[in-house]
Amino acid sequence: MNRQRQEGYQRMPLSPGRRPSLTHWAVWGLPSRLIAAVLLVECTAVALMVADVVAHPLAMPSFLVIALLIGMAIAHTEITLGVERMRRRVAGTPHIDLSSVWTFAAALLLPPAWASGVVLVIYLHLWFRVSRPTRVPVHRVVFTTSTVILAVHAAEATMNYSHLEVGQFGTPQGLFIVVLALLAYTTVNTCLVIGAIVMSAPDTRLPQVIGNGDEVVLEIATLSLGGLVAAVMTSANIWYVVLAFPTLLVLHRAVLVRQLEEAASTDSKTGLLNSAGWHTQASRVLRRAQRDRQGTAVLMLDLDHFKSVNDDHGHVAGDQVLGEVAAALRDEVRDGDLVGRFGGEEFVILLPGIDPTSTGDSEVHAIAERIRRRISGLCVVVPTPDGPLTVQDLTVSVGGATHPRDGASLDQVLRAADAALYTAKRAGRNAVRFGPAPPVSQPATQPIGRPDPDHR
Ligand code: GH3
Ligand code: MG
Ligand code: MG
Repeated sequence: MNRQRQEGYQRMPLSPGRRPSLTHWAVWGLPSRLIAAVLLVECTAVALMVADVVAHPLAMPSFLVIALLIGMAIAHTEITLGVERMRRRVAGTPHIDLSSVWTFAAALLLPPAWASGVVLVIYLHLWFRVSRPTRVPVHRVVFTTSTVILAVHAAEATMNYSHLEVGQFGTPQGLFIVVLALLAYTTVNTCLVIGAIVMSAPDTRLPQVIGNGDEVVLEIATLSLGGLVAAVMTSANIWYVVLAFPTLLVLHRAVLVRQLEEAASTDSKTGLLNSAGWHTQASRVLRRAQRDRQGTAVLMLDLDHFKSVNDDHGHVAGDQVLGEVAAALRDEVRDGDLVGRFGGEEFVILLPGIDPTSTGDSEVHAIAERIRRRISGLCVVVPTPDGPLTVQDLTVSVGGATHPRDGASLDQVLRAADAALYTAKRAGRNAVRFGPAPPVSQPATQPIGRPDPDHR
């Protein structure tokens, strides 16, 4: 599985029908440190390819192996074209393509110069059929191709170091070295891509970039399939390699389903969980906390007089403020805490692992106060045609409640937090209030979603 940058490397819109001139290339919009790092990766890849050709003047490996690897990779891309283009459109994490089945097999089977040649052909075809139609900037495709070439070289270097000839790995010791080569391949590819993302967006948190454990498993699965492909191709049963296809196609669909699930639970404006996604994850986290007999707190937040931000500065500025508030909230809590946007200018945070005694209460109060202060100190600079505009003096009202004291279920705790938020608003806003929900007339089973904006 080859990772590619998706987040951080924002796409630059092009005017329809116009090709950007050299000075307008999207790459120049990147931070100069990042441009230098990307160029270093690309130059290293080119230098390695030149060195390969000079060191091993074109000893021709099996033509059948090269033709099969390229042919299978092209067939793979063509068959999964629809899925792949859709994945490009919904992806919020680094885009992961599954072509490493072929590029890793090439690293195991071919001398470096030929393996790099196979990578170039596969990525040229991918660019032509997938990246270009979905308007992925060329510089990103070049960077991705370079990272794959470096990963291929890392795998080959592992085998050389172990004195394992390319294509000669049919022993237990050979299998061990192939596993090491697999680890070298994925380490180099992943570190380069993550490094580029972190350099372009230093605020990005590692879990956002590397995803959850599923990605690691998928990566190992894809590369393992590449190892199997290589093993079959060195045997007398070379044509059996086509049997890898069904597994690969199922893998592709599984990745798409997961990406669609992620997209369906993410708020596109802020990158936070949306209301449905937050509810699903919060219920799961609360169940785990109940099992472990730990307390859990819920904070509901509503920006004060946010309508006036829109009225005074426009909706674009309002949207940017929402994005920066979301980033600040994420920054103020731990990785295991769940931050969601309930809708509009309302946010919700689940804080699991709270001490169920009064010590926990004061801890949660301190977190809520810290968040309130952080928002009141926010200074959002919005670029406008008339120069940068600064939005400040934002305030937020916060309502909090804890499980199990203020409610036995998530909805009951949410209702208590909502009531506390209402109290904070009535107390003059820019305030934090905690407390149990007052008796309510509606049935306890009615789930709390986004409250009616006019209810307070
Ligand atoms: P209060 O202190 O009582 O909460 O006042 P408020 O103005 O924040 O609350 P109200 O419910 O009157 O208005 C919410 C505002 O949030 C109005 C709406 O335009 C704005 N809003 C909701 N969603 C978005 C959004 O996605 N983008 C922008 N820019 N504004 C939004
Ligand atoms: Mg509000
Ligand atoms: Mg509101």
